[in-house]
Formats: sequence, C-alpha cells, structure tokens
Amino acid sequence: MLLTTNDTPPQSTAESAISVDRNAAAPRRCRFCKAPNLHSMVDLGMSPLCESYLKRSQLNDMEPFYPLHAYVCGECFLVQLDAYVTAEHIFSDYAYFSSYSDSWVEHARQYAVKMTDRFRLNANSHVVEIASNDGYLLQHFVALNVPALGVEPAANVAEVAVRKGVPTLVRFFGVETARHMVQDGQSADLLLGNNVLAQVPDLNDFVQGMKILLKPTGVITVEFPHLMKLMDENQFDTIYHEHFSYFSFVTTVRLFAAHGLTVFDVEELWTHGGSLRVYARHADDASKPVSDAVHALLASEEAAGFRTLQCYANFAEQVKETKRKLLAFLIEARRAGKTVVGYGAPGKGNTLLNYCGIRTDFLDYTVDRSPHKQGKFLPGTHIPIYHPEKIRETRPDFVLILPWNFKDEILKQLAYIREWGGKCVVPIPEVTICD
Ligand SMILES: [Zn+2]
Repeated sequence: MLLTTNDTPPQSTAESAISVDRNAAAPRRCRFCKAPNLHSMVDLGMSPLCESYLKRSQLNDMEPFYPLHAYVCGECFLVQLDAYVTAEHIFSDYAYFSSYSDSWVEHARQYAVKMTDRFRLNANSHVVEIASNDGYLLQHFVALNVPALGVEPAANVAEVAVRKGVPTLVRFFGVETARHMVQDGQSADLLLGNNVLAQVPDLNDFVQGMKILLKPTGVITVEFPHLMKLMDENQFDTIYHEHFSYFSFVTTVRLFAAHGLTVFDVEELWTHGGSLRVYARHADDASKPVSDAVHALLASEEAAGFRTLQCYANFAEQVKETKRKLLAFLIEARRAGKTVVGYGAPGKGNTLLNYCGIRTDFLDYTVDRSPHKQGKFLPGTHIPIYHPEKIRETRPDFVLILPWNFKDEILKQLAYIREWGGKCVVPIPEVTICD
C-alpha cells in the first residue's frame, strides 16, 4: 500500500486551536528548549531583510525575500522565527546608530544614573554592555566615572563609540567571548544588554556567556520589547528577520533559570512600544530578594493565558485587520488627491510597508535623521529616503510616522506641518490621525 502525503498524525486539542501549516518551513526545534512542537502564530508573507537599505545603483538588482513567519513553542512559549539571516550579516554594515534618537539617549542617561545609585557603582566597578552600539549608553557611565566596556560586533559602529571615549571590544558575545573576557579580568558588576536578546541566534550560548561574565554578586539587566504589549497593541511590525525571538516574562524567567540565573526584579518601560527591563543575578546570590513586581507580572501573564497556545491563536486575524484599516485610510487619502509621505526608516517600517504592499503608489518618500540612510531606498518597497527638510519643501497633507514608538518626540519635531494644514498619522495599534 502506498502512503500519501496527507497522512498526518492526530492533532491534540491544543494544536487544533492554531492554524498549523505542516508544509511550511517550520523551524525544526525551539531555539531555547529544543522541543519539536512549534505552532504557527502569524505569517507576514515574504519580506526582504529590513535593514538592507538599497543604494540607487542596486535598484535594478534581484532582491532576496524570505518568509517572515512567527511560531510559538508549545513547550516554553518562546515566539520565534526561522533564522534565515546570520548575525554576521545583520551586523556587517549596521546602519542603526542609537544616538540619532534624542529620547533614546535620554533613556540611557537615566538608566546610568539609576543603576549607579541603586547598585552603588563607583570607580572600582566594571560595567559591560553587550551590543553597545555607538556608545549611546556607556558614555553616561564614563561621565559618572564608572569604568565601562562595550562589546559590539559592528566595527563601523564600535569605531564611533571609541571616538566618544567608550572602550569597545569588536566581537560577538557568547560563552567563548565571556571566557576570554574573564581571563582578561573583565568580569562585570553590572552586565547589560538592551534590545539584543531578540537578535541572538543561539540564546543558550548567549545567556550562559552572561552567567560566566557576571561577578558573584553582580547584576544583569536586559531590556526587550514585551511580547504581551506586542500582541495587545498589534505591534506586528516589530517582527522582522533580524529579531529571531520575542519574549514574554514567563519565558524569560525560564530562560535565565535554565542557566543558573534568578530574575529578581522587573520594570515595565515605554521604550519600543512597551519593553521590560529584567534584573537577574546568580541563583545562589541571596543578597537580592525576588521583588513583588516579579510575582505580580508572572501572575498577570498567567492570567492572560501566556502559558496556553490559545492566547497566541487570535493574533493573526488582529494583524490582518490592522493592515486593512491602514490600507483603507491610504486609499481614501490618495483618491481624495492628498499627498502622503513617511517619517523615519526604521526596521519596523519595512515590515509594515512590505506586509501591507505600500510602495510609492501610496507613500511618495520617507525621511530619516540618520545620514547613513539618506539617499538610500527602503528594501522591497524602494521608497526613497530623504533628509527631514524634504517635508518642509514639499508640504505633504499627511506624514505617516513609521517609528511610532517615538511618536511624541516626532510630533514635536513635525509641529510645523500645521502651517499648511498637514497632519501626522500613526499606523499602530491602528491607523490614527493625530490632531
Ligand atoms: Zn521552547
């Protein structure tokens, strides 16, 4: 008897709640717990790598597109993408310079002051930041006279940090780098990684490296967008190939625990549409008790169902509806003869525009403060990126704010568009005209 390809194993009740495409190129095993049961969460179609801005000379070349499909692990509930892109590729000519956002630099300054105060850091302490970018954060520790060292794989970005007086090691972080740093006497009193956990292909190697580099009574802090916020507020555009993993608090606590680290405190932050700052220490360091905030957030995620597959099942429809609303606005505006341009060229904008099929038919151009992006074109959509002055020159009716997480800052910068009756629009959590 011949077996047909329709022979599939019986599905459990939990599985049938989620649309599982068994033919899709699903990651074989969970990036963290290695369980083989990954379930489709949302399929954003084919998309180019969101940081691959194009030069004019590349516009006629073939452009690689990869599936942008998020899965959730039925065992540990880590939300994850297949790794189509290597970390080496992401960081080889990294165009993201943190210092181009005023509110991000101010966030970093407040963090440095707070940590120095809370953990009594001084001239004898050692702060290490993983993925330290252009020194936007560590420069504040240097100013406070607390010795700091950055670890940053992108050489062009690290160079900027060094010029600011922030010593920087050009390397990827993991167990091997951590061992090498410990041998060099660079163990950390404060070890931080902001918005880097998502970009780590080998999560276990990364967190184990943190464990190795941390002094016995040292503190780790990591910040990352909170999965609960992503889902509550339709922030599907923060899903892109360069972000391999998306974390709930329950899964984060489990990840750290698997490497002998205890999460002892957590704060909810406004950054990136709603992030968590998680504090961890060695499991045997009894000097820092686990805070009430940890218990409260675990309870809140449990209650919201973050340990059940059902919780992830409804997200795909929510995403489609967000797309329909944005397109309805754009179609109506263009039919009425209005001009619409973009503001910003963030990675999230590229997910949004590619998924929604928005090209120069809807958005004439976008602008960005980073000179590294000006003169280039958005991947996939080929929307040109100009200097922000272009808005003043062309007086558009609507400006679509792509980095909506910096909405307040950008609304202030763009207050002048009211002179000609221009209005700002944010696409997420749903398309809204700002008055
Ligand atoms: Zn897992």
